[in-house]
Amino acid sequence: SQIYGMEIDDAPNETYADVGGLEEQITEIREAVELPLTKPELFKKVGISPPRGVLLYGPPGTGKTLLARAVAHETNAKFLRVVGSELVQKYIGEGARLVRELFEHAKKDAPSIIFIDEIDAIGAHRSESITSGDREVQRTLMQLLADLDGFKDRGNVKIIGATNRIDILDPALLRPGRFDRIIEIPEPDIEGRLSIFKIHTKDMSVDDDIDLNEIAILTAGMKGSDIKAICTEAGMFAIRSEREKVSKNDFIKAIEKVGFDHRNGAGELI
Ligand code: ATP
Repeated sequence: SQIYGMEIDDAPNETYADVGGLEEQITEIREAVELPLTKPELFKKVGISPPRGVLLYGPPGTGKTLLARAVAHETNAKFLRVVGSELVQKYIGEGARLVRELFEHAKKDAPSIIFIDEIDAIGAHRSESITSGDREVQRTLMQLLADLDGFKDRGNVKIIGATNRIDILDPALLRPGRFDRIIEIPEPDIEGRLSIFKIHTKDMSVDDDIDLNEIAILTAGMKGSDIKAICTEAGMFAIRSEREKVSKNDFIKAIEKVGFDHRNGAGELI
């Protein structure tokens, strides 16, 4: 459902099996987010405070949102998502209030995961010259920091931030007790692309002679979102030729098409 300024999903369907090529990142996020939610007593016994939030960083379309939703699914947690740029551009003057309400909701709905996409839009390094627009951004950031700090023993609400501009983030956000785990979500390598192709072709009917290895080789430089688009396009080519199975040639044409859109900045990739 959608409450003013935030998107709430009671039960995301994505699982870790839907996330390709990010095995190490899954292990890290399980330790930092899942374990404190499912086994808080472990941290008590050892006498350390669990990580409160993790920050995922990397290029767009590599699976940050997907991974965060999968964590919510695997922990039976509610998933609350806000987009940093919307907080300060779409809901002008209300960013700080929305952040406050977001945390209130998360506590009420716990166990829950707060996902803040494009966190750089509110968490960029504070500059010297402050215009009125910046002031709004700053107020929103101050509220976010206050809420992160006011969270001390709330083991059942976890925060996941995402950005593709970690270089401009305010170091205040990265202090211990805030986003104290930082996980890189990189572009997939050939193995990663192969597992992402396996995931997205799982329910497709494809010709027997299709070698996904070969297709992974042909898609160097492409990310998960591109691969998903390629599979859909390949299916469309088959439908257009009134075939029920997707051929290797359909995939080749789809790679060209998606690669072309990509280079020309079209589609949902940008
Ligand atoms: P953005 O920074 O633009 O929000 P993101 O990193 O959050 O991007 P997603 O929104 O998670 O990327 O990816 C878009 C879609 O691309 C996913 O819903 C999924 O279908 C596909 N996808 C991306 N990465 C992966 C992956 N590692 N494994 C499987 N599918 C992926």
